[in-house]
Amino acid sequence: MITFEIGAEAGAQLERARELGRRYLRPLGIEADRKREPVPPEHPFFLLAWQQGIGQPIGVEEPRAAGGPRTAARRGVLLAEEMSYWDRGMSVALPGLGLGGPPLLSMGTPEQKERFLAPFRDTTRPHWAAFGMTEPGAGSDVAGIQTSAVRDGDAWILNGAKTFISNSMRAEWIVVWATIDKSLGRAGHRAFIVERGTPGLEDLRYEHKMGLIAYESSSFTLRDCRVPALHLLGGEAHYAGRAGFKGAMKSFNATRPAIAVMAIGIARAAYDAARDFARQHYRLDRPIPRYQRYREKLARMARKIEVGRLLCWRAAWLADAEQPNEVEASMAKAFCPQIAQEATSLAVEILGDAGVASEHYVEKLYRDVKAMDIVEGTGQIQRIVMARRLVGLPH
Ligand SMILES: Cc1cc2nc3c(=O)[nH]c(=O)nc-3n(C[C@H](O)[C@H](O)[C@H](O)COP(=O)(O)OP(=O)(O)OC[C@H]3O[C@@H](n4cnc5c(N)ncnc54)[C@H](O)[C@@H]3O)c2cc1C
Repeated sequence: MITFEIGAEAGAQLERARELGRRYLRPLGIEADRKREPVPPEHPFFLLAWQQGIGQPIGVEEPRAAGGPRTAARRGVLLAEEMSYWDRGMSVALPGLGLGGPPLLSMGTPEQKERFLAPFRDTTRPHWAAFGMTEPGAGSDVAGIQTSAVRDGDAWILNGAKTFISNSMRAEWIVVWATIDKSLGRAGHRAFIVERGTPGLEDLRYEHKMGLIAYESSSFTLRDCRVPALHLLGGEAHYAGRAGFKGAMKSFNATRPAIAVMAIGIARAAYDAARDFARQHYRLDRPIPRYQRYREKLARMARKIEVGRLLCWRAAWLADAEQPNEVEASMAKAFCPQIAQEATSLAVEILGDAGVASEHYVEKLYRDVKAMDIVEGTGQIQRIVMARRLVGLPH
């Protein structure tokens, strides 16, 4: 039985997120979009959020009472939708472990967790982490990463390039995926923690995006980058068999429902903007068919938003119940960005010419939403995953 009941504390967290979103996330997201620049890490808002314990809605360590039910995935989904409703770009710009958290928490040794979580306990300034898998020549095909890792005494030498890595220019450390032997495919994958300032971590630069401008997407080069052997995530023992690649995939399955529901947050924002516009412009002297079309479009948006949200909740519930959720997480990730694209497009239609004017919020949402179908596994790739699992089609 699926339960949506996750305790009073979640309700209070949601209320705080709503207030934060209304006061800061949306205004700052709009400001970044107008300036066409990410919000800089030294912006006072980040310190304020950090000191109030508000970070990115994913990658959070489970504060669970002994024996109590796991609720982290569902709390993540709840908060991710709310923050994305206010501004998806700003919700990723918030300080915290982000996508770097799940691999550290699930694969890291106790010593690694102690060391790399330590900066995140410092409340005097905000801290970020990042996750670097994608390369200029390997995105969907993660097995094809080319960044090499060669053992040299008590260190590993990394060489390669990573692209579109969220928050990597401001990150305390980046989980960098590399291969010890390309011919081994996924079995050759290893994850390393590369700290900011490590010699050989070079050429960090922004990528300019059409939407989600508030957070930075950056590329970088690893040139003879020497990483201590102790920074191999999980230690040597972790990589027996296919555990390395499985570690990356497991961390994606845990975060995918929260990423999928962010599209629902954007869709809900588009729905609200279109509904408010329709209400404002509803006049009895206008011909009825026009309002019928508004109504039909709004009802279609509301219906699909609800279906998408339920898919995310089911995938998150399975994660909390520690049951396999690969198919459900892929269904949510394949479905939600598509319906969010439809919702933002319908919102623009409802507003008519005003819909493409930059002073109307739906124009920004229309640009923000596209990347949701690309990040963390594109829609096409999710459909391949589902096909493989459901009908046994080969990868
Ligand atoms: C805003 C943003 C933030 C990101 N943040 C991060 C991050 O923090 N860390 C990180 O590591 N990466 C990040 N990425 C990268 C993201 O994970 C990749 O862009 C994504 O995996 C797709 O890879 P690609 O861009 O190389 O496209 P490709 O893999 O080259 O795909 C191009 C197109 O071909 C399709 N395609 C590919 N293979 C197949 C196939 N077998 N069958 C059918 N269709 C196929 C894809 O669906 C896509 O439409 C981010 C990307 C964006 C846009």
